[in-house]
Amino acid sequence: MNIDLHCHTNLSDGTLTPDQLLDLAVERDIKMLSITDHDTLDAYSEITSFPPSIEIITGIEFSSQWEKLGVHVVGLNLNLSSSDLNDAVLMQSKIRSDRAQKIAEQLSKLGFKDTLAGAQRLASNQIGRPHFAQYLVEIGAVRDSKEAFRKYLGAGKPGDIKEDWPDISEVIDWIRASGGVAVLAHPKKYKMTRTKLVSLISDFCAAGGEGIEVVSGQQTPQETRELAKLANQFGLMASCGSDFHTPDNKWASLGRISNLPNICTPIWNAWM
Ligand code: AMP
Ligand code: MN
Ligand code: MN
Ligand code: MN
Repeated sequence: MNIDLHCHTNLSDGTLTPDQLLDLAVERDIKMLSITDHDTLDAYSEITSFPPSIEIITGIEFSSQWEKLGVHVVGLNLNLSSSDLNDAVLMQSKIRSDRAQKIAEQLSKLGFKDTLAGAQRLASNQIGRPHFAQYLVEIGAVRDSKEAFRKYLGAGKPGDIKEDWPDISEVIDWIRASGGVAVLAHPKKYKMTRTKLVSLISDFCAAGGEGIEVVSGQQTPQETRELAKLANQFGLMASCGSDFHTPDNKWASLGRISNLPNICTPIWNAWM
């Protein structure tokens, strides 16, 4: 069965509208899908028609911090009317817009003026670093987004403002309070040493996290095997998601991910 539990729409940093995303999911024969926009649930109120062939699992990707690093936690199967959840989303939106201002200040120190207005124009809803990256491309400061992250916005660079995000344990609490399961997103993207990753997973479990993305877009088979073993070692359920943002990126393609290794306990056991 084709399952994808991590993807984005234009309500965060993706390019497709929720309806366009669902059309693509139907085309790719996806049977279970979760839209997990960064810190917003807005996609769920924008969907105009729900394809009968797809089981939609509600979801979100929360920004958080752990040991001064930016870490993402996906929440799945949430009750969208939970007041804890809606309060949390409001708080995150405020942090995100204040953070955008700080990012613009950092970029201005580097000589790039008025990036806030530029990035805001490119964001249809929730603003993020990819909109700044796109703007820097637009003004010819960099060749592509990758270069913008490498030089100015990525981990450890001036535009990587993460200290305002809540602690990972707080984010896990919000997800659980709204009846959802907390999943550690794309563990291999943090480029941590194995020791550090084990420490993160251990803290994540202690805080009530129940799942981990064993399969994510842009990952080698060896990394997947390693994550499957770690999931089992920590008694975590395994999730799979492409982290799709745009049809232009063939490495994170909607629904085109490998199956969960057989040794894993699938995350959908939590709601099926
Ligand atoms: P933000 O939510 O504002 O912290 O931005 C994080 C988003 O930036 C991620 O979800 C990715 O979509 C994107 N991103 C992170 N690192 C890179 C990179 N090196 N190149 C391109 N996009 C990136
Ligand atoms: Mn993103
Ligand atoms: Mn992420
Ligand atoms: Mn994502």
